[in-house]
Amino acid sequence: MNTFEKIRKLLLRQQKKVEENLKAMEKEDPVMNGGPAESSEPGTDSWLADVHSRVVAIKISLQDILINTKKALEKMRSGKYGKCENCRRMIEPQRLEAMPTATLCISCSQKSPKAGSARKQ
Ligand SMILES: [Zn+2]
Repeated sequence: MNTFEKIRKLLLRQQKKVEENLKAMEKEDPVMNGGPAESSEPGTDSWLADVHSRVVAIKISLQDILINTKKALEKMRSGKYGKCENCRRMIEPQRLEAMPTATLCISCSQKSPKAGSARKQ
């Protein structure tokens, strides 16, 4: 099995897992479910808002992963996968194996300010 085939399987598995997680999150969200039947308890509203905002935050990050995963699979189909979006060179295979949704090579990701790992606070 070559590296790309291995990564493609990884991406497909990741896509499935994220989609399952998203569905599960929908069930977790009390607002999406119409809330508890009796919501007369004091503090229920803030509890609902609290759980809802947490679920929404998780869903946003899951959707982010899903979009990146789909983009990577799309690139694989069109034969553009593995190329750095900045310098157009091939991304290091070790990097792709560790992070299949990577769109920048190691040196560009270190230069790019939006690369999360290089963020300074
Ligand atoms: Zn590059």
